[in-house]
Amino acid sequence: MIEQTARLAVDLAAVRANVRAVSTGTRAAVMAVVKADGFGHGAVPVARAALDAGATWLGVTSAAEALRLRQAGIEAPVLSWLHPIETDFEPLIRREVDLGVSTVAHLRRIAVAAETAGRAVRVHLKADTGLARNGATADDWPDLVAWAAKLAAEGWLTVTGVWSHLAAADVPGDRLTDLQLAAFRDAVAAVRAAGLRPELLHVANSAATLTRPDTHFDLCRVGLALYGVEPVAGRRHGLRPAMTLTTSVINVKRAPAGTGVSYRHEYTVRRPSTLALLPVGYADGLPRTAEGRAHVWLAGQRCPIVGRITMDQCVVDAGGLPVAIGDPVTVFGPGDEGEPTAADWATWAGTNPHEILTGAGARAERTWVGA
Ligand SMILES: *Cc1c(COP(=O)(O)O)cnc(C)c1O
Repeated sequence: MIEQTARLAVDLAAVRANVRAVSTGTRAAVMAVVKADGFGHGAVPVARAALDAGATWLGVTSAAEALRLRQAGIEAPVLSWLHPIETDFEPLIRREVDLGVSTVAHLRRIAVAAETAGRAVRVHLKADTGLARNGATADDWPDLVAWAAKLAAEGWLTVTGVWSHLAAADVPGDRLTDLQLAAFRDAVAAVRAAGLRPELLHVANSAATLTRPDTHFDLCRVGLALYGVEPVAGRRHGLRPAMTLTTSVINVKRAPAGTGVSYRHEYTVRRPSTLALLPVGYADGLPRTAEGRAHVWLAGQRCPIVGRITMDQCVVDAGGLPVAIGDPVTVFGPGDEGEPTAADWATWAGTNPHEILTGAGARAERTWVGA
């Protein structure tokens, strides 16, 4: 095996425990959202672990992601929801992938593809209840519902679900969630009034699943919590981070006071110190916006990354610690020993943990443990 500079270990036992932790708080079914290659954890192994622990649905954004799950032999219900209008829907329909639909244009193309495939397609109509991203607005909803009812009557389409996505579920008590729920109920009423009988209503993401039972309906779409990151700041639900990013020291030097470090010398060593070089940088998902705040776990301590994070490398000021070439370094992990977590990195970088997880280890060697 060729030695890699960055190593990414995914703990599938943690994924299973997180599914169970989430499931205890709801009677709704759990959809494991494995988009973006399972938030960087590997969509197929994560999907298998989540199904093993009781999740019954899988969620992805794209046709490619959905078909990859089917090609891996995963037969569980899959919902895919972000499709360019020119998408070839036939393979998705043949492989029994449910489709999220937000526009009449998509609905009509999907119905044609179903007829060509000779098989009815299951769609989940998406309402925009206040996020202003995907979904049909209240103005466009009647037209989408009328078309769905017409195409359903022709037999090539079943309206399996009605759904929406929340804009501020991670802010407890935010009134926007109440407004969105009210708008969602109106959208569902319109679907029922058109004679359709959707089996699955769903709006909850991780934050809503853990903090707002009134959003659960029939199905909770869980992403972040599956990977063990608490979705609501300051709240603990016993989740366990699944991803650990490690590397090792590849060079060590003694630096006298006054040594300028990395491009433009944005950091200067104040007292004689040991500098450790790590072969990971922003191309491995360590954001430059974390400069000046980021730490790694080295020699049993949190040590600061100093100076600029570069594409492939960064420098750690290990102070007076005894550090040697080859010493192991944890960039982030579950936090058991005091090492930083992905959530810490998100704080340092001024972003959300999702961006840290999906950006981590684009070129790391991934291994899965606890299968
Ligand atoms: C990503 C996504 C989710 C999962 O959100 P988390 O906050 O990660 O739980 C749920 N629903 C939709 C539509 C999404 O795009």
